[in-house]
Amino acid sequence: MPMSLRPFLVFASSAALILSVAACDQAQRNAEAVADIGPAGWLQQLFDGSDGRDWPAFGRTYGEQHYSPLDQVNTETVDRLGLIWSLDLEPGNPATGPIAVDGIIYFASGYSVAHAVDAATGKLLWKYNPKAPEASGHKLRQGWGSRGIAYWNGKVYIATQDGRLIAIDARTGNPVWSAMTMEKDAQRFISGPPRVFDGMVVIGNGGADEAAIRGYATAYDAETGEQKWRFYTVPGNPADGFEDKAMEMAAKTWSGEYWKHGGGGTVWNAITYDREFDTLYLGTGNGSPWNHKIRSEGKGDNLFLSSIIALDAKTGAYKWHYQTNPGESWDFNAAMDMQLADLVIDGKPRKVLMTAPKNGFFYVLDRTDGKLISAEPFVTTTWAKSIDLKTGRPNEEPNIRYENAPSTIRPTPVGAHSWTPMAFSPKAGLVFIPAIDLEATFDDRGITAENWERTPGMALDYGVRLDVRPPADAKSLSYLIAWDPVTQKAAWRVPTPGHFNGGVMATGGDLVFQGHPDSSFTAYDAKTGRALWNFDAKAPIVAPPITYTVGGRQYVTVIAGMGTSAGLFGPLLEPFGIDYRAQKRRVLTFALDGKATLPPKVPYKAVAVADPDFRPDPVVAKQGEHIFNIRCSVCHGGGAIAGGTAPDLRTSGAILSEDTMTAIIHDGILVPNGMPRFEEMSAEDREAIRQYLRMRAADLREGRR
Ligand code: CA
Repeated sequence: MPMSLRPFLVFASSAALILSVAACDQAQRNAEAVADIGPAGWLQQLFDGSDGRDWPAFGRTYGEQHYSPLDQVNTETVDRLGLIWSLDLEPGNPATGPIAVDGIIYFASGYSVAHAVDAATGKLLWKYNPKAPEASGHKLRQGWGSRGIAYWNGKVYIATQDGRLIAIDARTGNPVWSAMTMEKDAQRFISGPPRVFDGMVVIGNGGADEAAIRGYATAYDAETGEQKWRFYTVPGNPADGFEDKAMEMAAKTWSGEYWKHGGGGTVWNAITYDREFDTLYLGTGNGSPWNHKIRSEGKGDNLFLSSIIALDAKTGAYKWHYQTNPGESWDFNAAMDMQLADLVIDGKPRKVLMTAPKNGFFYVLDRTDGKLISAEPFVTTTWAKSIDLKTGRPNEEPNIRYENAPSTIRPTPVGAHSWTPMAFSPKAGLVFIPAIDLEATFDDRGITAENWERTPGMALDYGVRLDVRPPADAKSLSYLIAWDPVTQKAAWRVPTPGHFNGGVMATGGDLVFQGHPDSSFTAYDAKTGRALWNFDAKAPIVAPPITYTVGGRQYVTVIAGMGTSAGLFGPLLEPFGIDYRAQKRRVLTFALDGKATLPPKVPYKAVAVADPDFRPDPVVAKQGEHIFNIRCSVCHGGGAIAGGTAPDLRTSGAILSEDTMTAIIHDGILVPNGMPRFEEMSAEDREAIRQYLRMRAADLREGRR
């Protein structure tokens, strides 16, 4: 449409919203906000999803539906969709959701290196590198760079591994302000996208799998970086006094000296703003440690772990909460994206919040009061029979708390759904979930509150042993599921490659876009799940796609390349030949009749480093395996089989030299590349890791798993 008509259409569409007193207040507030900042299209689009020009936030609108009404690319025309341009990126994390405002794409790849790219031509406009690895210190030991970026009033916002929230001038790429969101030397990191709402920008952090961490989220003034409020998600030591009434209430659900373990409940991913109620929802993470017996003497619900917490957006004051897993014990965090919608349920219009957390149930909550409307499993879910709609609590199966013996359950800490966002199409009335089907055994025999001591210095240490594997009867390890949130039933379900499939986007063209680890980028028919279009990206895809228009033409953009936590389960990604060094990381942009091509993909297969005289010492290698698992596997892959997040060390010449390993691990010579420093690790431990890696290289050479 001609640009000059836009302001009129924008106001006409907001006038059409006036259906009730609440909507009237809403329109009033929208008009005020526009008056404050000017008739900026991006702002209107944040609260009124009907204009698809931009993709101005991680989930496009405040409601985070990952849906665009654009329909130039649709079920009829999608076979004409082709590549317009591609832009190669530097090594580092490419698993990040871009945004698009006024024909410019912004994203933070690598370690939150912000980029601005002309959407029509693919020309890089500017780049800003916050040097996060150098600033990170121990925070770099776990965590993977940024999964998203935010925009408000001419500024983009990145949140860095080391804990900074930085506002950047969207025109020039120059930093405007920087706020430190963590206490000094805190063993936390940021990997989730910041969100903006009403002139504020909010960010949480992660780390509760690795350290004694108490979760919180903090809101800042978007213009100045001044801190507006901070909300803690779990109580601290009562002797220090409680920050607010919510913490006083929460403390009653904890036992023992819980504060010594931090508690957990980090806000590492999901934050959604609800403009209708001026409410901010936080999705919180697992307990720290996972084992409830260690964390809280096995007693109490432990609020607000694994919860959706509603806050007054202006003040950060508690409004209500809903806890998915009272007494959390499985890393079943409720930190997956929360999407807002208006649904008609049992003939009544309802204001709902929808989320598909790790535990495998799809939850529909009434967002006026946090009451559970419905919850049903969207994958095979064996830890609970059902969710009691009266109490909102799960009907747990016996022994799932591994109280008497090891417990094997589905889904797992990888999630029935992880951070890759789902999408809701209001047109189709369906939620499209990137779902995962794995099985896990939890075993805490011999581990007690008395003898458990957390490994210092950020390491995976849950207070329970964990083993994750493909279920024997699984037909596929992942699915794209079209879920009807009203009937709580699948409309369709298609198997997808691998165990960790990409973020999802739905469009008004009745299409659902998703990338996969096998390099396919696919458009599915929203009604049937039939794959209508497929593009060989020649690189794996986990990041969520976006769509927007420039000059009346609809574009689709996705960033290809493997990164973030997916790398931990490298053995499951092995069939796809994804290597840290060999894989391409690329911004790919498509439109109808695009004719650009990509260079051919060079196939990759791990080849062990030559080490002919090596004779393993199994005892030392076993020690090395343990250290590797808790310190290194999160990036370099379980079993030292890497999935692309970091180099596969079985193939690396570095493991042949003690001096090289010392320079890397002890001296930190590769910190600028994102390889952390472990300065306190003893020479003996370093050598044990080296022994383990040489043994795994020998396994690879000789065809053992
Ligand atoms: Ca976790």
